[in-house]
Amino acid sequence: MHPPEAGHPVVRFRHCGKNIYCFRVPDFCPVCHQPMSFRTLDEAPITIATPLIHGHQEQCAFLLKPTQGTFLREYDGNADLHVGITNTHGTVYNYNEQGIHRDDAGWEESISIPLLQPNMFRLMYRWDKYLEEFSATDAWSPNRYEEHCYNCYTYALTFINSILAAEGRHQLDKNKFTEKFVVPKTRRAAKYITLYRAIEEKGFCVIDRCDSDASRP
Ligand SMILES: [Zn+2]
Repeated sequence: MHPPEAGHPVVRFRHCGKNIYCFRVPDFCPVCHQPMSFRTLDEAPITIATPLIHGHQEQCAFLLKPTQGTFLREYDGNADLHVGITNTHGTVYNYNEQGIHRDDAGWEESISIPLLQPNMFRLMYRWDKYLEEFSATDAWSPNRYEEHCYNCYTYALTFINSILAAEGRHQLDKNKFTEKFVVPKTRRAAKYITLYRAIEEKGFCVIDRCDSDASRP
């Protein structure tokens, strides 16, 4: 089941030499208007994996979502993003001008970056305790919040670095973290959002097969 919060699933099929994206496979090809038939497995419909994830189903992950509204509906590519960290039950810990929040709703359409490498799974048993203790300190009181230099990102990254330090690993600065983990995901999400909105507007979206791999969300 696709959660309704994350929008419709996007289906891709190939017909008349093109990649065609829809929310469901139509009876007639929207390009050549012939009845739909798929001669090869390669042409048959597949559901595109969405980069927008139900954040409350993610364990030990870094999540991003628009501060206001959702990616699919309102996000314009420039609006502020809010970030948080999930515990093992999908509760999203996040920091803003009101202090720490522990959200069990509101992150149903997020970009998710898993924080535990396969060789770090033993950390999972202590994760919730670490996250709770880290969040309960005065460091994250409302009066310390600064929109540009002491914000949700500072909170999440400081937590990630405290985990890395406990594991004896290198620290990540904001630029390195953004470049390595966040940008590839947001880039993919931006393509998906563009594709999704095009389908909403016209009922389908066509991408020539020659550039299909580069355009695939
Ligand atoms: Zn066709």
